[in-house]
Amino acid sequence: MEFIVCKFGGSSVATSEKLRQIVKIMETNEQRRCIVLSAPGKAPGFNIKITDLLIEAAKKAIRCEDYVSVLTDIKTRFLSIYEPLKVPTGVINEILSDLDSRLASDKNHTGKFRDLIVAAGEDLNCRLFAQYLNVIGIKATYISPKEAGLIVTPVFGDAQPIGDVSLKLASLKSIIPEQIIIFPGFFGFTEDGDVATFSRGGSDLTGAILAESLDVSEYENWTDVDGIFSAHPHMVSNPQLIPALTYKEMRELSYIGFNVLHEEAVKPVMRKKIPIRLRNTNNIENEGTLIVSERLPSERDVIGVASGGGYCSFTLQKFLMNREKGFGRRLLSIFEDLDLSYEHCPSGVDNISVILDQGQLKPEAVNTIIRTIHDQLHPDEIRTEFGIALVSVVGEGLIHKIGVMAQAATALSRAGVNIKMVNQGSSEISIIFGIDASDEKKAVNALYDEFFAR
Ligand code: ASP
Repeated sequence: MEFIVCKFGGSSVATSEKLRQIVKIMETNEQRRCIVLSAPGKAPGFNIKITDLLIEAAKKAIRCEDYVSVLTDIKTRFLSIYEPLKVPTGVINEILSDLDSRLASDKNHTGKFRDLIVAAGEDLNCRLFAQYLNVIGIKATYISPKEAGLIVTPVFGDAQPIGDVSLKLASLKSIIPEQIIIFPGFFGFTEDGDVATFSRGGSDLTGAILAESLDVSEYENWTDVDGIFSAHPHMVSNPQLIPALTYKEMRELSYIGFNVLHEEAVKPVMRKKIPIRLRNTNNIENEGTLIVSERLPSERDVIGVASGGGYCSFTLQKFLMNREKGFGRRLLSIFEDLDLSYEHCPSGVDNISVILDQGQLKPEAVNTIIRTIHDQLHPDEIRTEFGIALVSVVGEGLIHKIGVMAQAATALSRAGVNIKMVNQGSSEISIIFGIDASDEKKAVNALYDEFFAR
């Protein structure tokens, strides 16, 4: 039998109603036999995610401050979700008491302690959800990432799965025909047996690791939106839903502006070419967006238009720069030495620009960069510019289609948008334009109209 891994995000597990909805989703397709849950997110009357409450409790405990009221809020929240589902209060309280032992544990290593507390959101939620399923007569079992062998690096708060993890998890395959697996997202265990979490949003990664290990036919990622749209709904009104796109297209779109999946979640599924389907828990009828390794050539050439603001550029002019060996390397190493990462580095005959996310720059950094460039590279001129937006046109079709660049540039010029920089990535599946931030919405709409509304 083929299986599907389903991961439900924080908003999909935020209330009793949502959990009933998950059961309905499980029942409509019997292949959904491995369920990964996040910790409850925001819900009406609860405007803080459980994960954030746990972070607060951990901070207070580390500083030896009183955390009782935060702890009470966390427990009350879980009780408010599971009591209406008829999970006996005694059972809920017993499961929640695990939090008391976690908070009382050793705090010498703050990272370790923090992760132990924060991971409880997913862990307790899964134990409770498995109880709920049992109460309503569904055979399901909570699986601990420790017993299953989800071993991760000891980088607390930003752990990564360790090499052969998928082999270990593959043994879960034997349980699945008998019982539905309920697996907590967001964390694993180090080789020393300590809990270590992934970075925020990391339950997506857990789902992807399980999808790879169990060789599933599909990885369903359930959230509160219908899927991925061709442009951000804040920028374009009623953009089209993308029915299918490739892993690479998704990566390009999420690079600027599209907050789709946790960045690291694509890698495990990509290795085995397992399709990911993004779906809406609140709109089961909608098929969502499918992310695959290859799309049919007949589908759209351009799949989406993404954008994001807050970039700046350092542009150097130096006569005969093209003959100076190592110029680019030395320029980029100035940024590296200041621990800054750059996004693009377009160059001309005698000029080169470095474009970076200006959010990383401390106020004094700009002068330091300019001074160092002057001292080390002796350019004729340096220009800086802030408040740049990047707009990108993405699609596998760009590789073979002639004229996409011309079409995009014409659309921008018709809309009166000045192009400051163009970068057609080496992958050839995106064209990125640097424009003035004040033109961002105009540019996105012009490009969307050009490629989708005609
Ligand atoms: N609960 C964690 C967070 O809020 C992980 C997740 O939901 O994926 O980041």
